[in-house]
Amino acid sequence: MNVVELIREAQTSGRTRFAFELLPPLKGDGTEGIAATIERLLPFDPAYINVTCHREGIKRTQRADGTIERHVVRRRPGTVGISAAIHRRYGVEVVPHLICGGQSRYDIEDALIDLDFLGLHNILALRGDKSEEEARFVPHPEGHAHAAGLVRQIAAMNRGEFVDGEVEICHHSAFTIGVAGYPETHGEAASAEEDLRHLREKIDAGAQYIVTQLFYDNRRFFEFVDRCRAAGIDVPIIPGIKPLATVRHLTLLPETFGCSIPEELAREVLRHRDDKTAVREIGTEWAIAQSRELKAAGVPVLHYYPMGKAENILRIARTIF
Ligand code: FAD
Repeated sequence: MNVVELIREAQTSGRTRFAFELLPPLKGDGTEGIAATIERLLPFDPAYINVTCHREGIKRTQRADGTIERHVVRRRPGTVGISAAIHRRYGVEVVPHLICGGQSRYDIEDALIDLDFLGLHNILALRGDKSEEEARFVPHPEGHAHAAGLVRQIAAMNRGEFVDGEVEICHHSAFTIGVAGYPETHGEAASAEEDLRHLREKIDAGAQYIVTQLFYDNRRFFEFVDRCRAAGIDVPIIPGIKPLATVRHLTLLPETFGCSIPEELAREVLRHRDDKTAVREIGTEWAIAQSRELKAAGVPVLHYYPMGKAENILRIARTIF
C-alpha cells in the first residue's frame, strides 16, 4: 500500500497512525544507529518512515602555504540508498525526501529513475534550504526555483514524460507526492496569503498530501487547516511534531523553523532550566498533550521529528499508539 492509500485508510478507519522521520547516517557511519532507532519504534506499527535529504556543505582546509582549499562535501549523503535498505529490511513504506537545492532537472530525473527501480514510490518533494554560502536560496541553473516545479517534474514522469521531452508509453512510474506546509507561514513568504497561494500551486501541480512544519500550539495547526480548506486545498494535512528537549530549543527552534513557543511551555521550561531531565520531560509531556488533542480531532497520521532523540518519541509512541 502506498502512502496516500495508507493515509486514506487511516481516515476511513478513524485510526490515527504513527510515522516518523530519520536522517541518513553521517558520512562514514554505518546503518547500525538508524537500525536501532527503527527497531525500537517498529512495535508501534509506523505507517511509513520518512528519510531526509541534505544538500552539500563546504569544507575549508588550510594548505601549508596558508591558502585555503575548498571542498564541496555531503555530510549526510545516501538518502536513496538508506531508504532502499530500510524498505528491504523492514518491509515498511519509506518516504525519501527529494530537494531542488543544488540539483538540475536531469540529476533529479536520475534520482527518480533509481527510486523507481528500487521500488520506492513515495516522495516528499521540497525546495530545500539555501546552501551555506548563499544569503538566500539560489536554484541550480537547470533546476527548480520552487518545490512546485519539482512536483510538476515528478507528476510528468508519472505520465511518462521526461525532461528532454521524450515520452515513453510502456513503463510509467507511480510516485505518490507529499509537500511541506507551514502553519506559521514560511520565513521567506511575503505574507501568509502568498504562502498559501504557493501551497495551492504545489497541490495543483500534483501533490497529494501535506506534512506540516513543527509547531507547539495546536491552534496554529487547526487554523492552518481551516485556511487551507477555505483556499480550496482539500488534500490530507499531516501535523509534524517535535518534542522540545533542551532550554536552548526555546530560541533555536523559532530561529530555525519559524515556529512560536507558547508562553506556558516557555515558562515551565525556564522554571526548570537547571534540570535537563525535567526540561526533557516537560517537552515530552507537551508533545503528548498535543498528540492527544490532534488524535481526538481525527488527524490520519502524526508525523514525528526525532532528530536523533528517539527516546522522547518512544515515550510518546507508548502513550499515544
Ligand atoms: P517552496 O514550496 O518552494 O516554498 C519556499 C518559499 O518560496 C515559501 O516562502 C513560498 O511561499 C515561496 N514560493 C513558493 N513558490 C513561489 C513562487 N512561484 N513565487 C514566489 N515565491 C514562491 N529541507 C531539506 O533540505 N531536507 C529535508 O529533508 C527537508 N525535509 C522537510 C520536511 C518537512 C515536513 C518540512 C516542513 C520541511 C523540510 N525541509 C527539508 C525544509 C524545507 O526544505 C525548507 O523549509 C525550505 O526553505 C522550503 O521548502 P518548501 O518545499 O516548502 O519550498
